[in-house]
Amino acid sequence: MAPSSKNDYYELLGVPRTSSADDIKKAYRKAAMKYHPDRNQGNKDAEEKFKEISEAYEVLSDEQKRKQYDQYGHDGLKSAFGPGGFDFSRDFTHMGDLQDILGSLFGDRGGMFDDFLGGGRRRSRGGPQRGSDLRFNLEIDLEEAAFGSQREISLPVSHECTRCTGSGAEPGKGRQTCRHCSGRGSVVSGGGFFQIRQSCPVCGGSGQVITDPCRNCRGTGRIQSQERLTLKVPAGVDTGSQLRAAGKGEGGASGGPPGDLYVVLRVRQHDIFQRHDDDLYCDVPVPFETAALGGEIDVPTIDGMAKLKISPGTENGKVFRLRGKGMPSLDGYGRGSMIVRAVCEIPVKLSQNQKRILKEYQESAGVSNYPGRQEFQRKVEKFFERKQALGK
Ligand SMILES: [Zn+2]
Ligand SMILES: [Zn+2]
Repeated sequence: MAPSSKNDYYELLGVPRTSSADDIKKAYRKAAMKYHPDRNQGNKDAEEKFKEISEAYEVLSDEQKRKQYDQYGHDGLKSAFGPGGFDFSRDFTHMGDLQDILGSLFGDRGGMFDDFLGGGRRRSRGGPQRGSDLRFNLEIDLEEAAFGSQREISLPVSHECTRCTGSGAEPGKGRQTCRHCSGRGSVVSGGGFFQIRQSCPVCGGSGQVITDPCRNCRGTGRIQSQERLTLKVPAGVDTGSQLRAAGKGEGGASGGPPGDLYVVLRVRQHDIFQRHDDDLYCDVPVPFETAALGGEIDVPTIDGMAKLKISPGTENGKVFRLRGKGMPSLDGYGRGSMIVRAVCEIPVKLSQNQKRILKEYQESAGVSNYPGRQEFQRKVEKFFERKQALGK
């Protein structure tokens, strides 16, 4: 398991690795009670902790994700969640489930869960709420990363329904005070010393029930639409670069501002160039006779073909650096290098005539043509001398 800066999910929930699903749920309930933002107003540590335990529960409560996590740790989840790793805004498939757990603990106010829920959020009695941030993973080619590009992207974004202004009820009618809780939003159960105040199960805590759902949003209060936008990818971006599109996230609620959209880039592997930061690497096959005689070879660069002078006796693997022919740096200043490695290629499918010429060369070649081999042979002889001196 590769070391990770992330905390162990089991440790976060304080359960052994062998815990049953039920135990994990219980542990999560307990931790969620403690760290829920509603109980820790303005406490950033608690909020962070709450996110962590929620993430841990999200993974450990899903049989398949848990298996993957058990086997490969946090890294194992990357494949499950796509190239960008754990996608907090999109991968909370169990959110409905979580809200049910928390709903019974905290009433209707899912608190920060609204930030993750997007379209599925519940109607809240609170004031304006900012829409949640969205994340979009975008793959681009190396050429686009080198020169920048414009990309059209399309993604589902939810907005408050304009017909019912998010209430979910037909305008003018369609809402009634909840009879179960008499509009209070909560009910008291149990008796004697222990009375438990719970969110009303009928109206979900809002104190009102919808008798006539809005025809536009079918009572959800939100409309999801496919939003298209043009994205400017600047030159020099790399895998992991994030572009922020302010105000392009989920729409707000009750007049709140929209969230932001974060586009996370991944640069695809290239056929001929490997990228390391701003440098580009390329292996260029060189005919062995060119390597021996010297000459010029054509090498591709991101800008176009270039000529590279090869000196006589260029050995296999020799590296040439072409300054300024690499990737542009993201800050706009300067460019990296292009690093060419000569890979000598031995010819195949020789004709009779070519074989004859090579044989002729072979007969004329002496030790001085091959200093590497000469050096090696000298070491071999020394080795046997030492061996003999030992009498072995
Ligand atoms: Zn509506
Ligand atoms: Zn009620």
